Amino acid sequence: MLHFYNSLTHRVDEFQPIQPGKVGMYTCGPTVYNYAHIGNFRCYAFEDILKRTLLASGLQVKHVMNLTDVDDKTIRGSQAEKLPLQQFTRKYKDAFFADIKTLRILPADVYPAATETIPEMIQLIQTLFDKGIAYQAEDKSVYFSIAKWPKYGQLVNIDRDSMRIGVRIKMDEYAKDSMADFALWKAWDEADGEVGWDSPWGRGRPGWHIECSAMSSKYLGKTFDLHCGGIDNLFPHHEDEIAQSEAANGCKFVNTWMHCAHLVVDGQKMSKSLGNFYTLKDVLAKGYSGREIRYVLISTYYRQSLNFSFQALDEARGNLQRIDAFTTRLKDLASGSSDPAAPEITALANDAKGKFLSALQEDLNVSAGLGVLFDFIRDGNRAMDAGKVNAAGANELLKALASIDQILAVIEPEAADVSVPAEVIALTEQRAAARKAKDWTLADQLRDQITALGWEVKDTPKGPQFVKK
Ligand code: AMP
Ligand code: ZN
Repeated sequence: MLHFYNSLTHRVDEFQPIQPGKVGMYTCGPTVYNYAHIGNFRCYAFEDILKRTLLASGLQVKHVMNLTDVDDKTIRGSQAEKLPLQQFTRKYKDAFFADIKTLRILPADVYPAATETIPEMIQLIQTLFDKGIAYQAEDKSVYFSIAKWPKYGQLVNIDRDSMRIGVRIKMDEYAKDSMADFALWKAWDEADGEVGWDSPWGRGRPGWHIECSAMSSKYLGKTFDLHCGGIDNLFPHHEDEIAQSEAANGCKFVNTWMHCAHLVVDGQKMSKSLGNFYTLKDVLAKGYSGREIRYVLISTYYRQSLNFSFQALDEARGNLQRIDAFTTRLKDLASGSSDPAAPEITALANDAKGKFLSALQEDLNVSAGLGVLFDFIRDGNRAMDAGKVNAAGANELLKALASIDQILAVIEPEAADVSVPAEVIALTEQRAAARKAKDWTLADQLRDQITALGWEVKDTPKGPQFVKK
């Protein structure tokens, strides 16, 4: 049985998909105007744990994640770099796909791009317009009238008496105290340059919120099971999505809304605007692996703030080394005699698998799940010390680890861990930068550090070649 905290009901509910055995899941994806930072990846990693828990519970998941490739920020960015919008966003889309692979995040089934879903957005706005809920203002933009939609405010409490009737906001992001009629279609202005589409209301572009309403329903239907994002998406983004979709379609939009708390640095949300962010590449360059970073991102309960620190990464490294030592020990025992496993070893494996999944099924309690894993490792090590684990037993314990790893995805060592460690790659990159800057002293120091780690780097015309010493 699955239980999740639903932001719509403000409590933990039993999760039941609309169609038995099948889940429709929509997660708000990146705005591709820059490299995603690890705060964003905390959110995508939480969604990955959710999806993997659904899969491990025997459900089929159709996962849709949008790519916001037209909005205020992408337009500004493409103009600053003097690139056509598509060319500008391509680079960040590609980087995003590479990053999620590094973090072992399962890809979505569909990645609709906003720029490929414009007709569906126009259709949705037209429906709202025909129902008298949307209107065109003097500035030619089309707005959603919150006064015409008494159900506005399902996710966050809205004090309807303080509603500023008729006030409009064109920007996509705004705070609750500046709540107003929000833009569905933004009339073209000079700041938009080349970007624009024709519509019944003239040339323009969609607002951010309508993008997700249109893209989710295009692939998952008018009513679907799960919609997720970071807590900052609650208002106005998700509130506005609900209003638009329910007003247009006349039915419930989403049954379960799930939001993760922020990844914070010194108590403040990691964000581009505050400038306190690290991209994945930044952290990899400091010598940490995708596996270690994933461990940190997933190991705090998703509704709790996660305080990012390099100390947490070092602790993750230590925990993973414990896991690796256990796995290696089991692998060494796993071939040989064909005797059956001792019943207590079979019980140990089954108990760990069962308890781990149950912890995750209770609102994704990864901390409890990791507790189960480390108890399992302790007990497994004791059983090996006592000579109770034969080849079949070792294989059963390894299978239990693999089953747990279907959700955690941190137990399997990284290919790079076996061949070239991330730290060596990072030092090599730093050394290349030092050589480019003709800082030979630093370059030599970095080479020494690489040597100290047991590697040699040869500079070849095809790039660095790594030799294990
Ligand atoms: P954006 O590209 O800004 O639209 O953000 C993409 C996703 O990352 C959204 O679901 C945000 O809620 C989420 N997000 C942004 N910053 C953080 C953070 N510091 N911690 C956790 N999630 C975040
Ligand atoms: Zn969205």
